[in-house]
Amino acid sequence: MTLEPETELRPWAEQEAIDDGSYRDQIAYLYERSPFYRAKLASAGFATAAAAGRLGDIARLPLTEKAELKATATPGNPVGAHLCADRAEIVRIYSTSGTTGTPSYIPLTASDLDNWVTGSARSYATSGVAAGERIVSTYNAGPFVAGAALAAFDRIGLCHIPVGTGNSERLMLAIDLLRPEAAVLTPSYAAYLVEWAAERGFDLRSSSVRRVLVAGEPGGGEPTFRAQLEEGWGARVTEAMGIGDIGPSLWGECEHQDGMHFGARGFVHAELIDPATGDAIPIGEGATGELVLTHLRHRAAPLLRFRTRDHVLVRTDPCRCGRTGPRVRCIGRTDDMLIVRGVNVFPSAVREVVSAFVPRVSGNVLVRPAKPGAKQDPPLPVAVELARHSDVDPSLAAEIGTRIRAALVVQARVELVPWGSLQRSEYKSKLVEHDNTSTESR
Ligand SMILES: [Zn+2]
Repeated sequence: MTLEPETELRPWAEQEAIDDGSYRDQIAYLYERSPFYRAKLASAGFATAAAAGRLGDIARLPLTEKAELKATATPGNPVGAHLCADRAEIVRIYSTSGTTGTPSYIPLTASDLDNWVTGSARSYATSGVAAGERIVSTYNAGPFVAGAALAAFDRIGLCHIPVGTGNSERLMLAIDLLRPEAAVLTPSYAAYLVEWAAERGFDLRSSSVRRVLVAGEPGGGEPTFRAQLEEGWGARVTEAMGIGDIGPSLWGECEHQDGMHFGARGFVHAELIDPATGDAIPIGEGATGELVLTHLRHRAAPLLRFRTRDHVLVRTDPCRCGRTGPRVRCIGRTDDMLIVRGVNVFPSAVREVVSAFVPRVSGNVLVRPAKPGAKQDPPLPVAVELARHSDVDPSLAAEIGTRIRAALVVQARVELVPWGSLQRSEYKSKLVEHDNTSTESR
């Protein structure tokens, strides 16, 4: 079942034709109203909107980095020089969790907000949740764009039960008493709750929750990890994904669990690049690269060829649900990617390999690179946590190391650590920890 069949089932070539028109209007708008893009495009040799060309020419234009936008923020214009709309047109201002100093501000006009909610509603509804059902959410949306994603639940017609982050007792009580059909949370928290429930004798498998929607970090679509979540929850697990600067929930997986469909189609254009060179990679079946996104109908602070830092695998083979267009699975954040003797390694892929050793291990892992930066020498140190009552089996570390080498073509030094020694998260997991002495130099 699709929320907007006319849009979601539209032949992709038709969508591209519509998007080309939207794109050219968007580019004209940027030349007219965005000091940031006027200057950036002119300095790249594109003095006018006509010179910038059609959607099919987009790969000729420069990429946008988050830091560039931030660098143009001033006390007089704290959003940055990419702000296009007048003060009176802005109806909402979200912010991102800046690690230092002032956050990045993300303004929206009324139509921007409406498009965000529409795209998010399509993405979440793709999971199969439907009007009249109840969904419990665990995000402390606060100042963050996730707040707009939560408005999508109203749009779908769900009864939304927000319980916030960091109170598992309250969450389980809500599940027990209010009997929601769905829960939305990070994959790390979903995994943590399986452990939490087992320790307290709470029968999660028999709860009312039939769908678990995971979002907020990569890995929820990795088959072995997902299978464990499904086993623990007795529910179907599907992924959703967004990126704060572009839209809160842009992609969502259907029940066939074969990559996330593009819920924000028509509002956003997606491309792939090689993160090392910035070169475009054609979107085709099996392609991988960093996702680059462009607003097509945005007004407040539209972005052009924005680098998301999300490394994705693309599927373009038709999906049995009938939705058209490319699908993606997020493999990891480009920032978390390690390069071990020329081979790219994502920490969620390491966790996926180790997950196959449950129940001998807990499933918690921590990659501990010996050097700062992405480039590492083999063997890559990986801490693997043992299961709660497992006996130390001297051959296990070697067995896991062999499997990592076979699956990821990387030599790892596996260290088995006792149950409970790696940190659990009620939000997002940290799967990589660089040596303390080198962290500051990163
Ligand atoms: Zn599908």
